Amino acid sequence: MIAFEFNNPTKLIFGRGTLDSLKSEVPKYGNKVLFLYGGGSIKRSGLYDNVIALLNEIGAEVTELAGVEPNPRLSTVHKGVDLCKTNGIELILAVGGGSVLDCAKAIAVGAKYDGDMWDFLERKAAPQAALPLGTVLTMAATGSEMNGGSVITNEVTQEKMGWGSPYAYPAFSILDPAHTFSLPKDQTVYGMVDIMSHVLEHYFHSESNTPVQDGFCETILRTVIETAPKLIEDLENFELRSTIMYCGTMALNGVLNMGMNGDWATHNIEHAVSAVYDIPHGGGLAILFPNWMKHNQNVDIARFKRLAIQVFGIDPSGKSDEQVGAEGIEALRTFWNSIGAPSRLSEYDIDASQIEVMADKALRFGPFGNFNKLNKEDVIEIYNMSL
Ligand code: NAP
Ligand code: FE
Repeated sequence: MIAFEFNNPTKLIFGRGTLDSLKSEVPKYGNKVLFLYGGGSIKRSGLYDNVIALLNEIGAEVTELAGVEPNPRLSTVHKGVDLCKTNGIELILAVGGGSVLDCAKAIAVGAKYDGDMWDFLERKAAPQAALPLGTVLTMAATGSEMNGGSVITNEVTQEKMGWGSPYAYPAFSILDPAHTFSLPKDQTVYGMVDIMSHVLEHYFHSESNTPVQDGFCETILRTVIETAPKLIEDLENFELRSTIMYCGTMALNGVLNMGMNGDWATHNIEHAVSAVYDIPHGGGLAILFPNWMKHNQNVDIARFKRLAIQVFGIDPSGKSDEQVGAEGIEALRTFWNSIGAPSRLSEYDIDASQIEVMADKALRFGPFGNFNKLNKEDVIEIYNMSL
């Protein structure tokens, strides 16, 4: 294990009926609230009315910003920053999926910065302060509810990049699995692919002596694999939604990677695809991750073998390590296909024409990946395998 510090300041409020805690949490940070949400799902589900009623009950002064896009855009961040600055906002309340939460984080740091917050994504500056942020999560996927990461798309330059800061952690996050009942099947699947991908990004590390971390990862992967087929047939099942929501938070709140660095190349490769084609993050990952695995199988055969046996129950008897590892990768692909995730870029009408452009975007900050450093040829090969 490598040396590490762990400090996760987010207060997690989990369970049925927890929305009511807005009444006790919000006043801790102030009265002037920016209420941020997406394209309308919370209006259709009734959550919008419930949030407004609670905010009215405590006499909060509410400014609204609606329409945060999936793959949230810099122009929306700018709108939010302006609203915070002109209205003296004291707390941002983000209600939605990872996109709304990520946008809120960008607004929170942008509101305390004199320049353009895109500087933080370009690594020209680092946030020094942020407005406090509270979240109500409606989709299990990103883990954004309990981490300091965010992904923003600059629609003008067609760049999609991640950034993170200790200032970007939500102060509190309310997770009622019933708020995810209305999430349609396809988005539910994308969310579960994203959760598994976060675990896999951690799992492919190059440290030794990480038995607890590896075991945690395998447990979450097995749990999603067991739960997903039941959930897609029973979208309003509270217990199944709870299990997946908890998996989503645990997959990316820093607990899994204490003492090691995950790989994260596949996320980078996917961000370049959704920067150019605006496809769902989980859909892109389902296509790319098995191909990243095939490309890297020889880096550490034992790791792929372990995944195959521990997570997919592959019987190794009479087989070479390479064969067992390859069967594990195939089992992951088959599982994702079985729940309706895509496996080829052509399913999103993506052809080879932009591969070079996407590879350059992915390599914006040079070769990447901690398990195995990828250069441009590697990335192009993975895109080609994925067509
Ligand atoms: P999302 O983009 O927030 O939401 C996807 C769609 O689901 C939206 O159309 C949204 O509609 C809808 N939706 C959400 N909750 C719903 C509900 N309860 N009922 C009905 N529809 C609902 O999806 P996401 O996967 O959570 O976030 C994806 C973004 O997060 C990507 O930009 C990705 O790159 C990023 N990401 C961030 C992290 C991180 O650590 N911060 C990690 C991985 C990925 P409405 O807009 O109408 O609400
Ligand atoms: Fe992700």
